[in-house]
Amino acid sequence: MAVARTFAELRARMVTKQLAEQGISDPRVLQAMREIPRHEFVPLSRRLAAYDNRALRIGEGQTISQPFIVGLMTQLLDLKGEEKVLEVGTGSGYQAAILSKLAREVHTIEQYPRLAERARQTLERMGITNVRVYVADGSSGLPREAPFGGILVAAAAPKAPHPLLEQLADGAYLVVPVGDVRGQSLQQWQRKGEEFVSRNIGAVAFVPLRGEMGWHGDDWVKSVKQ
Ligand code: SAH
Repeated sequence: MAVARTFAELRARMVTKQLAEQGISDPRVLQAMREIPRHEFVPLSRRLAAYDNRALRIGEGQTISQPFIVGLMTQLLDLKGEEKVLEVGTGSGYQAAILSKLAREVHTIEQYPRLAERARQTLERMGITNVRVYVADGSSGLPREAPFGGILVAAAAPKAPHPLLEQLADGAYLVVPVGDVRGQSLQQWQRKGEEFVSRNIGAVAFVPLRGEMGWHGDDWVKSVKQ
């Protein structure tokens, strides 16, 4: 007989099977992902799939990343709790909600007003008050709030955007998928004084980063043929 599972049970299972057993080990990250109700961030018609091991459509041709990737990117920021963090690509607001539990303050930028507005409403409904959502091109960051104790880019860039590296506090990490429509590599950059050290984490698949430091016009699609 089929057993109806509550969202909380599905979420606990997601954390064990898709995160902890796959190498996400930061207890604070696991706890945040146990707490934040992912199903609240996806369209009503997709709620039952909210805890599946995959990305989901959220409108405007955009997607909320699969839980493992959210956990991995968050863990790579190595947050301690007192940071001011920047996210580029708010989408549903789910990643921002996770960050809100792990840092003091989150600034998140979305290019589509409709997604930004929906994310704002969801975060408010959740009682989350330390996230500020902006509608803008976030590919060059948010200089007036810099430096940041961590920067997470949730869309694929042609290369790690220089303005974002410059907005890192000393010792802080930038996590960004770099590559084209055929595939990308997740990169972790750390600022050490005026030096930047980078590490390739592995293959990922994201929607394109647009804007000044992102992909322009058809270049993203055309990159297939090159
Ligand atoms: N972090 C999101 C998923 C992001 S999908 C979540 O948890 O749901 C990537 C998002 O980046 C999309 O919403 C897209 O519109 C946005 N985006 C792409 N380029 C951008 C840019 N230059 N500035 C701001 N947002 C951008």
